[in-house]
Amino acid sequence: MTGSLVIAGLGPGSEALITPEVTAALAQATDIVGYIPYVARVRAREGLVLHASDNRVELDRAAHALSLAAAERHVVVVSSGDPGVFAMAAAVFEALEAGPAHWHELSISVLPGITAMLAASARAGAPLGHDFCAINLSDNLKPWSLIERRLRLAVEADFAIALYNPRSKARPEGFAQTLSLLQEVCGDDRPVLFARAVSTPDEQLRILPLSEARPEMADMRTMVIVGSSSTRLIARASGPILYTPRSAMAGMA
Ligand code: SAH
Repeated sequence: MTGSLVIAGLGPGSEALITPEVTAALAQATDIVGYIPYVARVRAREGLVLHASDNRVELDRAAHALSLAAAERHVVVVSSGDPGVFAMAAAVFEALEAGPAHWHELSISVLPGITAMLAASARAGAPLGHDFCAINLSDNLKPWSLIERRLRLAVEADFAIALYNPRSKARPEGFAQTLSLLQEVCGDDRPVLFARAVSTPDEQLRILPLSEARPEMADMRTMVIVGSSSTRLIARASGPILYTPRSAMAGMA
């Protein structure tokens, strides 16, 4: 089989944050497969077929991409940020495992991208400067009880916590519950970053103590980073710097 499948991350929004290897893969593609707004970020050109699909059809989209590659096309599946972070790379491998044996011989590669938590953290300073974890707040693919358990354990382990998919119109109550849980277990002063549409013209950054955080401050374009117990602020006239020192107190152990 001479087709190929590349699973590429387009970064958080700005073209300057797309890696040169992703740009090269897009230039060589015959087909682009992905969720509508991500496919819209790829420049159309002659000979390039764009296959844009709706949200929540990841497995169908992945199987479609694999079958195109098996038909000798050069396919790039696009995700925002990094394709391995709550995105298409895992969906493609799930479809590969479930699919026909000949798909296993396809040339498949994953090209990393700048994931939202890293873009957001860089804008604010270095809130992920010490140990941290990432939790997807969408309960489409896992029960809410598991999300809640992971949040509690992450706070207990004193990680800084990056929250993806904090709040959608379909499930507005999850993030409100998350904030109450965090307020209950972290105390009021813990700094929280709301970073919206990072690296796009709509970018908006807000840093505030947990006690002032409100559910409406987040939407599906927002990354929320909750500091650990040692995350702190450096005040500046041009806006605060949020960072977590590299060392942890011995008392945590
Ligand atoms: N694969 C993507 C994440 C997909 S989940 C990545 O690696 O970044 C989608 C979630 O990512 C959004 O709900 C939001 O929480 C976050 N996100 C994506 N782009 C963002 C951006 N430019 N600014 C802030 N958050 C973003």
